[in-house]
Amino acid sequence: MYGELHGKVAVITGAATGLGLAISLRYILEGMNVVGDYVGTLPDELADAAKKHPDRVKFVEADVSNEKQVEGLAKTAVDTFGDIDIWVNNAGVEKACHTAEMPFKEWKKVLDVNLDGVFLGSREALKHFTKNKKKGTIINMSSVHQQIPWPTFAHYAASKGATEMFTKTIALEYADQGIRANCIAPGAIDTPINAKKFSDPKQLAQTESMVPMGNIGKPQDIANAAAFLASDEASYITGTTLFVDGGMTLYPSFQHGAG
Ligand code: NAD
Repeated sequence: MYGELHGKVAVITGAATGLGLAISLRYILEGMNVVGDYVGTLPDELADAAKKHPDRVKFVEADVSNEKQVEGLAKTAVDTFGDIDIWVNNAGVEKACHTAEMPFKEWKKVLDVNLDGVFLGSREALKHFTKNKKKGTIINMSSVHQQIPWPTFAHYAASKGATEMFTKTIALEYADQGIRANCIAPGAIDTPINAKKFSDPKQLAQTESMVPMGNIGKPQDIANAAAFLASDEASYITGTTLFVDGGMTLYPSFQHGAG
């Protein structure tokens, strides 16, 4: 737990499930004011948290790829809590498709949510930070696929590679104002995005064999990283990616001295 996070205001996109849900619950536990963005239905866990802490938790329905809705999300955060300290661009989508057969609209959909969403959210955070001379923090959810190519997910890998370079660029652009921007790159984590794959024991075993530590990660592993990057203990860290992947990016095929 990081005492200094108490009372800070965080906006988290894609807060209703998986990693966004885990980060929201961790930030609530840290005593933060949380504005959770979602599309679709709000899960019971979050609705309960909002009921339990009505003065600290607010949920807003907003499509991260829609400029007006993201502007509205920022406005709701400021109207409700008077400030924004941390903005987590977590919302993301993926869908397998061979590149030769990929409909343009599938490519656009993934880039719209995963990359436009990161830009639109970061821009709102930067507007607020610069206008208020605030040393705020942006955390962008990337993936090990900012680094590892992923056949049939060219749109997804492209969106995450671009997220890394976008984050490094804004980190440099605003470093002299004390604003930090970093990525978290999860490996294989047990969330709804992977539910189908990990419910099949064969596919689960195959993924585990690609993780040197031998097991897939938990959403809490990512929430821990998001709490750290938001905290003062990360105050000298900007423009980097924190890989939370059990070693997946360490060329696992070399693990036992092969090559
Ligand atoms: P998830 O499917 O549970 O979460 C994605 C969330 O984004 C959902 O709540 C969904 O409703 C929301 N979302 C989708 N489109 C949206 C839109 N247009 N506007 C607002 N919200 C929208 O999966 P997750 O694993 O929690 O994924 C969270 C992030 O982590 C994603 O960016 C994903 O690419 C990244 N990631 C996940 C893993 C993993 O193994 N789980 C690995 C690497 C990266």
